[in-house]
Amino acid sequence: MTQAMFERVALIGVGLIGSSISHAMRRRGLAKEIVGSARTKATLATALSLGLIDKGYERAAEAVKGADLVILSVPVGACGPLAAEIAPHLSAGAILTDVGSVKEAVVRDIAPHVPAGVHFVPGHPIAGTEQSGPEAGFAELFDGRWTILTPEPGTDAVAVEKLKAFWTALGSKVEIMNAQHHDMVLAITSHLPHLIAYNIVNTAEHLQRVTEKEVIKFSAGGFRDFTRIAASDPTMWRDVFLNNKEAVMEMLRRFSDDLAELKRAIEAADGDTLFRRFTEARDIRRGIIAAGQDTPAPDFGRVHGSQPAPETESGARK
Ligand code: NAP
Repeated sequence: MTQAMFERVALIGVGLIGSSISHAMRRRGLAKEIVGSARTKATLATALSLGLIDKGYERAAEAVKGADLVILSVPVGACGPLAAEIAPHLSAGAILTDVGSVKEAVVRDIAPHVPAGVHFVPGHPIAGTEQSGPEAGFAELFDGRWTILTPEPGTDAVAVEKLKAFWTALGSKVEIMNAQHHDMVLAITSHLPHLIAYNIVNTAEHLQRVTEKEVIKFSAGGFRDFTRIAASDPTMWRDVFLNNKEAVMEMLRRFSDDLAELKRAIEAADGDTLFRRFTEARDIRRGIIAAGQDTPAPDFGRVHGSQPAPETESGARK
């Protein structure tokens, strides 16, 4: 148990990320009181019954009153309207942060509403699963993962340090960068993979009619693992692509160029190029494991027959 860092934390949005933050705060005793609000009464009721929040409010404006930390854990497109709603009710000296997967647009939408004396420090935990909702969260989600903070120049340094210490106490490693750079990095590491996964599932679905359900039947051949993230929340991902258009378009151009090279190599039966490109890719994929960002367990740690369940680096479910 660590000493409480905040008196009252307001979670605006209690889905996968909001609920995981609550679990991780409770694990270390980081907040004396956790309050929250969600869009629907059903989510609020679930959050209360799971003990994720001590008090629930139907209106975000009510929830933030008296909070010294306010965390927006809602789809990116909801951040601006929510910031406008809560702004007049934020306490002087409070830290306002978010967890949105896009940062330039979130800064554009939130910053104009933030009153003087409130410290706005945008954030993004690079951790998640394809699940959503208050029941999906778990305390270990952020363990060993990175959280990126993107404070604008001139942001109060003490507030940035405090939020950095908070994310560290949640289990995360923290890096600070500017919002534009964040959006470019995430476009290739997260946004493009989700777009490709959604697209290949749809392509296969169209093909399915020809192959008579064989796509799902034989999915263990790669399709299953490659497309896990296509089960992610459509609202969240719609908002990501609407709000990180330029960086995603740039990465799509590069991806298309590289794909065209592979296509030419296949057409020309150019085995050397294929072998070289696949070897380079395998080395990068192995580098992800060497960096502790995935498990080296065969078949992603799935249990086969009498094999014992493998322990993951974070203790998270596999
Ligand atoms: P989620 O599980 O779907 O939860 C979203 C929460 O926001 C719910 O409590 C929802 O309430 C609330 N909400 C939705 N629309 C709202 C609105 N218009 N006004 C007020 N509240 C609203 O989503 P999540 O996965 O936690 O994602 C939340 C944020 O984290 C997103 O910005 C996403 O980009 C970012 N993020 C996600 C991941 C990931 O892997 N999922 C990882 C890192 C960052 P109701 O349930 O009542 O609708």
